[in-house]
Amino acid sequence: MNSEGSSKATACYSHDREWFVAEAAAFISSRPKGAALVSLDVSDFKVVNLVFGRRTGDRMLRHIYETVESFLEPGEFLIRDTADIFYAVLATQDRATILERLTAVRSAFDAEMLTGSAHTPYLELRFGVYLPENDGTPVEKMIEYANMARKHSLRNLRVTDKCFYCPERAQHKVEEKQRAAELVEAMEKRQFVVFLQPKVNLKTGRIAGAEALVRWNHPERGILAPGLFIPLLERCRLVHRIDIFVFEEVCRLLAKWQREGRELFPISVNLSRETLDIPNLLPHFKTICDELGVPRRLIEIEITETSFAGSFEKICDFVRSLNAEGFSCSLDDFGFGYSSLGCLQRLPVDTVKLDRSFFVGSFDEERSRMIVSAMTCLANRLGLKTVAEGIEDIEQLDYLKRTCCDMVQGFVFYRPMSAADFEREAFSGRSSNATDVCACTG
Ligand code: C2E
Ligand code: MG
Ligand code: MG
Repeated sequence: MNSEGSSKATACYSHDREWFVAEAAAFISSRPKGAALVSLDVSDFKVVNLVFGRRTGDRMLRHIYETVESFLEPGEFLIRDTADIFYAVLATQDRATILERLTAVRSAFDAEMLTGSAHTPYLELRFGVYLPENDGTPVEKMIEYANMARKHSLRNLRVTDKCFYCPERAQHKVEEKQRAAELVEAMEKRQFVVFLQPKVNLKTGRIAGAEALVRWNHPERGILAPGLFIPLLERCRLVHRIDIFVFEEVCRLLAKWQREGRELFPISVNLSRETLDIPNLLPHFKTICDELGVPRRLIEIEITETSFAGSFEKICDFVRSLNAEGFSCSLDDFGFGYSSLGCLQRLPVDTVKLDRSFFVGSFDEERSRMIVSAMTCLANRLGLKTVAEGIEDIEQLDYLKRTCCDMVQGFVFYRPMSAADFEREAFSGRSSNATDVCACTG
């Protein structure tokens, strides 16, 4: 935006959205394909009010408003809508020019932020831009599009092309929302089922536990793996519903086996990061176990290291509470990404699950084998059990038997299976697939 120019731009530091909509409609229709609607806000503005107080917050909003206004050209206009959201109409549709002008606003603002005192909050402006098409789109809709673009524009040191509304990206978001609604409907129709993948004790070759893995029993597409829906549920903050369902199903299974006088194995349940934040999660788990008479030690909660981002202390507290309440806990996918030994040192988990990536590709190299051997040894010295995940062939198994690894969960023994199949495998009393395979190795 440019502060030069003789006649002044119009601006309105109020919440008069009606005025803005009417002005914008008139301006845009008088310049078909020659205007842009900009939505602007401040990243994490709530924090400013909380940390610096409302007066500073109000002062900052006024300051943002005046800064943007000083860059407007004659005829262009600006409004502060609610809270920290501002809208401006610019008299151009040239992308490069718009980016240049927004960059200038941002640079002017950043320069002041960087030289501000300790009493000045550091703020970051975010922009979203909609370029009207002269196709009869109402201004309220344009505002919505500009807001969507603003929310999609990632935090970035520069103002980039990402701030422009992109119909494909918006369409993708709409489709995600539709798919999430389908998943919720599937939950209501009870289309999710729990599969179990046995964990085999390497010394005895016998089933010593299992991991519960959710599946979507789709009416047309059949059994679908979690990779097809868990990430979406996580993005839509819905995954806790699946996690709680799986937990409850596992408790029901254990209670049934207990009634039938079966041998009981610990069953592990995966919890996504988001689920750990659900209020009263642990009391709910306790209630379910107590109501069904399931010993809590038979439930092992699996958490992954990716859950720790930015909240290690919180996870430590969660794991401590799990322990205190008698549940077990395992660290899933250990070794995937940037595993830190500090996690093992500080997290009071009972079991470490070595990630599949240790065993694929480079496992024939001596280095990989040494790492696995050392890891299992270390876990053993720390009093933790180890489960090697994703073991597919006899050679890997053969090697693992010569380490301190306690259990194996992999296709070499069993794939995930329905509860009915699991019961047949685990309770039939006949020699299992696992004992046969184990016997073949050294
Ligand atoms: P995970 O918790 O690490 O589960 C192990 C995954 O490895 C399972 O995939 C299992 O089928 C697969 N696997 C086991 N042995 C082998 C093998 O020998 N070879 C290969 N190629 N794969 C093997 P699945 O069932 O597709 O689950 C994928 C991931 O989805 C799980 O990884 C877990 O992160 C997530 N997940 C599954 N169920 C749930 C759930 O109820 N809640 C949450 N939040 N996540 C779940
Ligand atoms: Mg797992
Ligand atoms: Mg895993």
